[in-house]
Amino acid sequence: MTTESAAIETDAPREWSVDDSIELYRTDAWGKGYFGINANGHVVVRPDTTDRHVIDIHEVMEGLQARDICAPVVIRFSDILAHRLRHLHDAFARAMIENDYRGGYLAVYPIKVNQQRSVVEAVYRFGGPFGFGLEVGSKPELLAVMALTGDAGDRPIICNGFKDDSYIEAVILASMLGRRIIPVVENFDELALILKHSRRHDVRPSIGVRIKLAAEGAGRWKESAGAKSKFGLFINEIVELMEVLAGAGMQDCLELVHCHPGSQLHDIRRIKDTVSELAHVYAELCGMGAKLKYIDVGGGLGVDYDGSGSNFSSSMNYSMEEYAADIVYRIGSVCNAKGLPHPIIVSESGRAIAAYTSVLVFNVLGSSALDQFRVRDDDLLHKTLPLPISDLVTAYRDVHCDRLVECYHDAAQAYEQTMQGFGLGFIDLRQRALAERLFWATCVRIRDLAGDLDEVPSELEGLRALLSDIYFCNFSIFQSLPDSWAIDQLFPIMPLHRLDERPCREAVLVDITCDSDGQIDHFVAEQGIRRTLSVHPYVTGEDYYLAAFLVGAYQETLGDLHNLFGDTHVVHIRGDDDGGWRIEEVVQGDTATELLEYMQFNVERLLTQLEQDCEHAMREGRMSLEQGRALRRFYASELRGYTYLEPEG
Ligand code: PLP
Repeated sequence: MTTESAAIETDAPREWSVDDSIELYRTDAWGKGYFGINANGHVVVRPDTTDRHVIDIHEVMEGLQARDICAPVVIRFSDILAHRLRHLHDAFARAMIENDYRGGYLAVYPIKVNQQRSVVEAVYRFGGPFGFGLEVGSKPELLAVMALTGDAGDRPIICNGFKDDSYIEAVILASMLGRRIIPVVENFDELALILKHSRRHDVRPSIGVRIKLAAEGAGRWKESAGAKSKFGLFINEIVELMEVLAGAGMQDCLELVHCHPGSQLHDIRRIKDTVSELAHVYAELCGMGAKLKYIDVGGGLGVDYDGSGSNFSSSMNYSMEEYAADIVYRIGSVCNAKGLPHPIIVSESGRAIAAYTSVLVFNVLGSSALDQFRVRDDDLLHKTLPLPISDLVTAYRDVHCDRLVECYHDAAQAYEQTMQGFGLGFIDLRQRALAERLFWATCVRIRDLAGDLDEVPSELEGLRALLSDIYFCNFSIFQSLPDSWAIDQLFPIMPLHRLDERPCREAVLVDITCDSDGQIDHFVAEQGIRRTLSVHPYVTGEDYYLAAFLVGAYQETLGDLHNLFGDTHVVHIRGDDDGGWRIEEVVQGDTATELLEYMQFNVERLLTQLEQDCEHAMREGRMSLEQGRALRRFYASELRGYTYLEPEG
């Protein structure tokens, strides 16, 4: 293909600075002080949002490369977890002082948000000074937490999710081990199991109950609340539960009321509504004789993925401080009005704790561009051409800023007719190639002239995206950014370096799976969503890294094995006292063997089969002894290899 530089490349009006990149990628807006760009044009992390530690992520990538750890890689900054937990604690502490609230606050981290051992351990360790605990939503999660929390003391473990007999028994056994563990009754049958196992083991359990909120949830997970929600008891059932407990002489065991209004709540009004409702249920139950100690407001505290601070699904129109203040104020005022003691407020924030901690870094493998077709001089020479192609010549020649939409319509129709003509056999391959050059070059002219207009006609808005480059990226969306694929979740994505250089290309990103859904064409923009990402020209043979940020919540564990691309490498980085950084832990990504065995292939048997095939090929003279040995070695080494594309050698 002959090429011409796209106009956006040649029009460079002035020097590009790091500040321009900060504005373009909105790094300050979504980075919330954790992420920035240094004078070298590299993305940096400030784990506690100050300049005490400033870690250059590009430098980290070079350090990893020198240790043979290549992209794609998830880099976890566990110091960010520590900062998030402190931030949450401080927000509630301040709200309690301001509202003269005397009940206290405890966060429990729902481990489903990111169950990786090192994340759970780090949250647990950093939450220690505040007495924060953990939340589990299944039996396997409980089995992990039950053993992990030997030093728990009074730190709570909240048990949600569907519970069978052995889940409940595990809870009761954990309480015998001295854990402050509270099973939350999510459906009525669980109560009988709690009573059975507490009698059997002679334990007086702490019990929680989840209410079905009348207030509708919000956002993508709004079904988590409301009468049709999967979990929780109707008020009618809670009254019955109180009677059953009273009958068993265990009324005082009911210690906690719980609700979960949904995840990523982007509108503070939802939080106000649900907390008010929960506070009134708390007050009513106390009035009926319950000795409740805790009020658990569930999860839902959002993350401002696009940095707009708005009521948009990938954003939130409130701060952590406002969240804490509203919860404390609402619960406090209901209790004050009824003369009740202030309960300990528990929240199950997951996303807001974990999202910022992980960055996914991937490398670009290549690119393709549609706006590089060039019309040659002899293409325009007078010659006999089929009508649709001569229409394309006219459309190309006559592009004028006064009638861009009309020119686009003419070109699009002529191109369509050319394709029909090819299908009918009266346009040959060379003519089709000419039509291709003419059409795309016309589109580029129209796009560039439209870019100079004050207002781009809506008909032409899609052209920029249509003409954008495709950057082929070494990762799997299904494994590493599943919410981008499944629910159109927006994650901030930007180059990791060259940010002092104008990003003069526009691209959509495609992953290495054989799936057309493996594409990202929604990016953070100042006003809403952009369909392309501004990137630097890709130079073959040079490393070009892009990174997706705020991926620490849900992405790492929801991912799947599409095309057998497995877990990426994960590296834990911590800031050093001298202001540098160090690698705390490297978790190697999945190997081909691990994935094949997960899919029930017997890798030993595969090796044997391959060896037999080699023997056969050698016997038939298709392969020398040396070639057979090289093939076997290659196969065995690839089985031990990373599932992603690796640099040569
Ligand atoms: N608690 C419960 C019961 C949940 O189902 C969830 C997740 O949906 C959470 C807490 C965590 O929510 P988030 O990550 O939005 O804070």
